[in-house]
Amino acid sequence: MNVLIASPEIFPFIKTGGLADVTGSLPKTLKKMGADVRVILPKHKNIEEQGFPMRYKNYKFSCPISQGFVDGEIVESEYDGVTAYLVEKDEYYYRDYLYSTPDGDYLDNAERFVFFAKSVLEAIKVTGFVPDVLHCNDWETALAPVFLKTTYKDDPVLKDIATLFTIHNLGYQGIFWQYDLHLLNIGWEYFTPDYLEYFGKINFLKGGIVFSDIINTVSKKYSEEIQTEEFGDGLDGILRTRKKDLFGIINGIDYEDWNPDKDPYIPAHYNAGNIKDKGLCKKALQEAFGLPPNGNIPLIATISRLADQKGFDLIASSLEEMLSYGTQYVVLGTGERRYHDIFTELSKKFPRSFGIKIAYDNGLAHLIEAGADMFLMPSKYEPCGLNQLYSLKYGTVPVVRGVGGLEDTIIDYTEEPNKGTGFKFYKYSEDEMLDAIKRALNIYNTQDAWRSLVKRCMNEDFSWQRSAKEYLELYKKAIEKHESR
Ligand code: ADP
Repeated sequence: MNVLIASPEIFPFIKTGGLADVTGSLPKTLKKMGADVRVILPKHKNIEEQGFPMRYKNYKFSCPISQGFVDGEIVESEYDGVTAYLVEKDEYYYRDYLYSTPDGDYLDNAERFVFFAKSVLEAIKVTGFVPDVLHCNDWETALAPVFLKTTYKDDPVLKDIATLFTIHNLGYQGIFWQYDLHLLNIGWEYFTPDYLEYFGKINFLKGGIVFSDIINTVSKKYSEEIQTEEFGDGLDGILRTRKKDLFGIINGIDYEDWNPDKDPYIPAHYNAGNIKDKGLCKKALQEAFGLPPNGNIPLIATISRLADQKGFDLIASSLEEMLSYGTQYVVLGTGERRYHDIFTELSKKFPRSFGIKIAYDNGLAHLIEAGADMFLMPSKYEPCGLNQLYSLKYGTVPVVRGVGGLEDTIIDYTEEPNKGTGFKFYKYSEDEMLDAIKRALNIYNTQDAWRSLVKRCMNEDFSWQRSAKEYLELYKKAIEKHESR
């Protein structure tokens, strides 16, 4: 089985969120299972600076964008034994950010990702690596299946390629005004509600949903939720029309990167059999945030993009009450400027119990997972969520809202004390969230019960093995579907 995975970000090359973790670690597991899996992503600015090998093999191409042709080059690289193709086009990708600055999206995002989608198809032709399945991820790659079935449909090299489209987050759809249609070089007949039109605009993600052979999201629950009006973001109707081709596969995590027993970013190592030294990590974390290093104070944490999706309005409005329970709380994140301001103010108001670092800091993220007692994720919606899975491994008890992947991966301790791996609430409200935190604190104060809960969390297994097998099954389904057309 030959598979090409296209994604706008792939760890360890570049990462802004969970998408990079998934598209970086899934290929490694698939390869171990015998598939020839390669990846393709744009050559963003700081990839080169990190010293990855860059092999220029004269894989040059030119593709139509509007009235003219745009040139690009595919550069070959690799990580952990996986071959990677990087689309070099400095005019589009040599920038400080991937998609947007703190002040908003790049204005030429439509053109940047039309070009990327076309580059993926051109790369197949110039490199000669012709996959059985092209696996696209999120709106930035969603047009590749569209082009395969329109502009490139008679191309002899490309015509047998099946497509799987994975939606990692329906909240980001790539919506642009209709006058950008010329960039795609497809006709106005595709600007209808059955295809790319969406309330008078062009919707890239919708294109991926309509044109791909098979579709999936990153948890079963989320695959159901997005077919409802509440979570469907205006696309629930079109998703329902593809119900029988829509699946949910929970993300795995990479225990090579996330393992408290050998994590290079933390000051002491521990495992489910011996959690004593988690306390040393806690102390280091309290110090890193300038909080009193007291092992008895329950320490709650969040690592996240500072975006509405992640429940930061709820956190901001209930922070004072949460701290009044005698907790400490730390946040690591970057994102919307208004949250930078709100949380910076709050940290000045509560310097001994609340700390925020506005940064993207992978090492600190590891220390937080190791040092905190509880991990708070009150998401409005959560396709899968990775941090609660890292938290389980690090014995940091998740307190989550039961939506999407959070619902699928965490069992509520209050409901099922013998199986529970965290604390859940459902209604998006301060009261319910604070109630879940209070339930967690009650158990925290019962040392033995807490210790066995922590160990149970650490023994959970969300490695890629099972999920990668499910992806192989979906690839086969995509091939069958493509052949039967
Ligand atoms: P999403 O993809 O919606 O942002 P996930 O929970 O699926 O959320 O994945 C987020 C990933 O990004 C996790 O690996 C998390 O540790 C990481 N992350 C998010 N913000 C930061 C940050 N400021 N610094 C370091 N890592 C971060």
